[in-house]
Amino acid sequence: MKVHNVSLKISAVGAAQYPLEGYPEIALVGRSNVGKSSLVNTLINRRSYARTSSQPGKTQTLNFYEVESQLFLVDVPGYGYAKVSKKDRQKWGRMIEEYLTQRQTLRGVIILLDGRHAPMQLDLQMIDFLHYYKLPLLIVATKVDKVPRSKWNKIEKEIKQNADLQPQDQLVLFSATTKAGAPVVWDWIEKKTKI
Ligand code: GDP
Repeated sequence: MKVHNVSLKISAVGAAQYPLEGYPEIALVGRSNVGKSSLVNTLINRRSYARTSSQPGKTQTLNFYEVESQLFLVDVPGYGYAKVSKKDRQKWGRMIEEYLTQRQTLRGVIILLDGRHAPMQLDLQMIDFLHYYKLPLLIVATKVDKVPRSKWNKIEKEIKQNADLQPQDQLVLFSATTKAGAPVVWDWIEKKTKI
């Protein structure tokens, strides 16, 4: 999809603030600094609309981006930032659980993993959680411009093995720098939201 119109509809902290349009929705989750803002900016064709993190872990709101009056992309605050207090981590957990388990219009979740490293414990927990709730999953391995192409097959194989991916999960290697993988991500979003 070539995006022309996008607006930040709301930064929500709880269900009472979720938008009511009823558009299909795709959420994006991942560890702080994994490249989530960069992926959102690539998808919506903007250089720096979604905040790229100078302060990882600080954004504790669900950011609903309305795209072409057709769907929402929901930027979920990143996890795994060491300096976040236990209390804030718990608050984050409640907010995410409420959103992922109750949002009727949620059609799928994109989870980002750093393509340069093996998935970490928190990533694996998140994938388990999403499997448990039977949410359609796209795994995006980020920053693959930092990995030689000759190793891309190896990355795919390792993620599939380590993250216990299921046959219905889709995996794509992505780079915000080269835009590699971006059309595949959009195809998946369009399929899941049926736009
Ligand atoms: P977020 O915290 O998950 O939103 O991550 P950001 O999108 O802010 O990215 C974190 C850092 O990784 C920034 O310095 C980005 O410039 C860098 N980054 C993000 N995506 C890529 C990518 O595809 N390739 C490279 N080389 N760097 C990236």
